Amino acid sequence: MLWTDFINSYWRDWRTGDRSKDRDRLEEPEWTIQWLVQEGLPALPAPNGDELGKLKVLRSILFDIVKDIVDGREPGELAETLNCYMIAGPVIRRAGRDSEGRFTVTLVPASASWEQVMAEIAGSFASSLEGQDKSRFRICDNPDCLWVYYDDTRNRSKRYCDDKACGNLMKVRRFRARKKAGQ
Ligand SMILES: [Zn+2]
Repeated sequence: MLWTDFINSYWRDWRTGDRSKDRDRLEEPEWTIQWLVQEGLPALPAPNGDELGKLKVLRSILFDIVKDIVDGREPGELAETLNCYMIAGPVIRRAGRDSEGRFTVTLVPASASWEQVMAEIAGSFASSLEGQDKSRFRICDNPDCLWVYYDDTRNRSKRYCDDKACGNLMKVRRFRARKKAGQ
């Protein structure tokens, strides 16, 4: 999802918890340019200092909202906050045909700007909140990882971003802690 990929642009070294290895992908021009393509967003040059600052603010706002939801708190001024971002990126309805000749109506971004991209991100987040079960919003249980994801498993039991990576690592940590306690 667009909003999870955006929040996860801040990468932590989930294996060691060494914070000096943190990587902010938003600061990597190749990453941001490639990311826009991958998400089907308008092509843009890498963000300048001002735009980068705004993107980071939005990212931390969204992370805090997810944290509130995960911890069972009701995020304050949720609609107002998202509206602030969404209003800055209007869309145009456009009728056309898909590659198989079927009639389509799509929403096309009105401009190519980082404001528009932020509106798309806020919109993607708002759509995930809309009428859906908030218990599917998740932050990986590995405190060194904090990867944000949307749990689409049937019984909503996904505790880690990846059971083979963080799930296994935490299992090993628990095993070692038990062994140590038993000694
Ligand atoms: Zn994880």
